[in-house]
Amino acid sequence: MKRRTDKRRCSRRGALKNLGGIGAAAAFAGLSPPREDPPAGPGAGGAGPASAHEEIAERVRATPLVDTHEHLPDEEERLRGDVICCDDWSLLLSHYLDSDLAVAGLPPATRDVLFSRGPDPLEKWRMLAPFWPAVKNTGYGRAVRIALRELYGIADLSEPAIPALQEAYEALRQPGMYRKVLVEAAGIESCQVNYLWRPFRESSQPLLLMQDISFLGMHLDPEIETFAGPAGKEVRDLADWHGVIDWWFETYAPYAVAVKSQGAYRRGLDYEDVPPERAEPLFRRMLAGEALAAAEQKDLEDHLFWYCVRCATEHRLPVKLHLGYYAGENYMPVGRVAENVAQASDLCRRSPDTRFVFMHIAYPCWQDLMAVAKHYASAYVDMCWAWIIDPASSKEFLKRFLVTAPANKVLPFGGDYIPVEPVVGHARLARHGVARALWELVEEGWLEARDALDLVEPILRGNARALFRLDEKEKNLAAAPWR
Ligand SMILES: [Zn+2]
Repeated sequence: MKRRTDKRRCSRRGALKNLGGIGAAAAFAGLSPPREDPPAGPGAGGAGPASAHEEIAERVRATPLVDTHEHLPDEEERLRGDVICCDDWSLLLSHYLDSDLAVAGLPPATRDVLFSRGPDPLEKWRMLAPFWPAVKNTGYGRAVRIALRELYGIADLSEPAIPALQEAYEALRQPGMYRKVLVEAAGIESCQVNYLWRPFRESSQPLLLMQDISFLGMHLDPEIETFAGPAGKEVRDLADWHGVIDWWFETYAPYAVAVKSQGAYRRGLDYEDVPPERAEPLFRRMLAGEALAAAEQKDLEDHLFWYCVRCATEHRLPVKLHLGYYAGENYMPVGRVAENVAQASDLCRRSPDTRFVFMHIAYPCWQDLMAVAKHYASAYVDMCWAWIIDPASSKEFLKRFLVTAPANKVLPFGGDYIPVEPVVGHARLARHGVARALWELVEEGWLEARDALDLVEPILRGNARALFRLDEKEKNLAAAPWR
């Protein structure tokens, strides 16, 4: 079966084989108040609750965000047009919202043309228009619309708006756009990029675009050349492959914030601790081009998974794992997805010293995941992607989490995009949800207003800075050899 990448159409086309302290507060201070701020609660008009509500909203608005998951290429790649499917206003809809459009009935052939470099901007609108009302209010749709408003001053898509939109798109798409979008418009302090076209990207903006090491190709269908080539090593047996994996960790662990695998797109998370003696003959047969039986394949993957997780743990790198919902459309086995959380708890039990970051709130199994984060010291939950999959449930998740599990176990935001522009919309939705969750807890009497205010900085920023040891990473990255 064809491998699925983490999210997207652009990445599927362009990257399949490779799957494999910025002054934000100052820049952010000039922003206009987002419309997604929570409306006044029932207490509005009374001095206490109304002012607490406004104080929470203001603090959430003014606090820089650490963005723990993106798939952004470097800015130069984006400006050259690499790894993007098209380079006009429709690009904003090409990652995620294209799936809602397909599910709403956009024919595949029209979709291919819409997200290509062929047609003119107005022609593209005419293809989209019949389906726009069906998708404009989903989380994917809202993130795009907020970005249109925040970045280009366009209230909504319509035929008359398209020429001005295309002009504004081109005006923003210039050197410096990442800083304008991420720092100035979205109030993001730093991002953590899971680069899809190489296992680790030596970014030219290393402090803004911090990177994960992608270990997917180390443990599932080992990508021998991709990993052994840069390491300058030959791979003849399992010990050689271990050496290649060691090289990636030794070379990049000081600069990486974490390791990441989206293996859950292809199999369950039921990784057994298979010893090297059992994996060795399987690895040799695989190298010789022999097809392994399914159980043998699983044994080999299981062994390599734990080899990588142990390396990450030794290098004090948290292990980010995709859990839950699948990007794309018309292929997700919901039964397998539903097993993710139970299997995640097995991983925590097996490796208590590892810091596992379970991504995407394991949507739609977020209540079960809350139990894992409450019970296991090694479990952290990342809300990346969640605010645009299901905004209202994400607010509910955070609200319940904060009075259930320790507050340092949650990471509130990752845009999870390849194009940078919609990150602005996603960040706005996240801030709205964080403020709303805190306010509702105060309003319902589960939280004191002072405690709600004290939670803002750790949730938006401090938790991620501590978990990923960003003080140390910033120092290392400032002196990175490729800069
Ligand atoms: Zn992702």
